[in-house]
Amino acid sequence: MKISKYSFGIGDRFVHEGVNQLKALIEAEKRFGVHFTPVWNKSNREHTIIGTEPASTRAEADAAVKALGYTDQYFCDADHIGLGNVDRFMDACDFFTLDVADFIGRSGSLEDRYLTAVKEAGRIYRHIAERKGADSFVTEVSMDEVEVAQKPDEIRFILKALADEEIPLQTFAPKFTGRFNKGVDYEGDLAVFEKEFEEDLLVIEEAVKAYGLPENLKLSIHSGSDKFSIYPIMGRLIRKYDKGIHIKTAGTTWLEEIIGLSLADPDALRLAKDIYRIALTRMDELTVPYAAVIDVDKAKLPAPGVVDGWDAQTFAKTLRHDEKEPLYNPSFRQLIHVSFKVAAELKDRYYPALERHVDVIGREITDNLCDRHVALLFG
Ligand SMILES: [Zn+2]
Repeated sequence: MKISKYSFGIGDRFVHEGVNQLKALIEAEKRFGVHFTPVWNKSNREHTIIGTEPASTRAEADAAVKALGYTDQYFCDADHIGLGNVDRFMDACDFFTLDVADFIGRSGSLEDRYLTAVKEAGRIYRHIAERKGADSFVTEVSMDEVEVAQKPDEIRFILKALADEEIPLQTFAPKFTGRFNKGVDYEGDLAVFEKEFEEDLLVIEEAVKAYGLPENLKLSIHSGSDKFSIYPIMGRLIRKYDKGIHIKTAGTTWLEEIIGLSLADPDALRLAKDIYRIALTRMDELTVPYAAVIDVDKAKLPAPGVVDGWDAQTFAKTLRHDEKEPLYNPSFRQLIHVSFKVAAELKDRYYPALERHVDVIGREITDNLCDRHVALLFG
């Protein structure tokens, strides 16, 4: 099973936007002439917080494909799994992201730092392959959830070791230089990122030839949604070297739901404001699981009384990731992003609202994906 050159991880917290997401990718292909394979990704952490099962993501993907008569390949990604939780995903998924970041050593030689993690990836891979059959899924290895970036020389070592473990790796998610916070732009030195990304592409090319890894092996960009300042750089370099890419989003589709709801009608706007009001009172609980991947400036968060006075456009413009919009507030956006647990608790209001306002939400999802993501990579 081989994934195509360009693919997009369309995480969907509430498994309601499969059709809207697929429509958006089809629209992106029409507009920019680039085909992205859809990959519905959702991690164990998000399934657990919301109370969903991997089978629901599979049902969502299958239903979306059927509804739109889509005939190209698509996948369901068991995102950031390890030996302890992979079994939950075994039947529903055909893309597995083996997260071995916790097994990376902090000091010593390359062997000291990476061999244990690579061996663990081998154990997870073989566990899945024995149950599903080696050719029935796509394998990604992720090492992005660590503090220190992996340099090109380290990636070369890791790829060689993964090849020695006989893992048929098709996508690899390193930790790049800079911060990849969820739902907001890249923070870091663009020139340093550009040099590193270019070297990584060359290391992958070399590793494919030298170590016999799959020839379609490509980089996977985690928390890849919203990293607009690096998109033109990545787009230019993958075309220069004729390489593929997997952009894995941070499940930000649900923010498009909230934007759509805020614009839909007064009741739905009330629901969006209620979620924010509750999130503010439970900030520590909601932000702690994501502490390493968000930067919320409490001083920049508007008081609930202020937000209550906002009209629909003010709410939407404050939340939508548009750097040119003076009202855009990244702290507001990041806090709402990690507050999906609140929406899950309000499910008797939240799910019917999603169903009632599927069209206005769909427009937000399409604009987000086409105008703010694919346009910057390939426009
Ligand atoms: Zn990740």
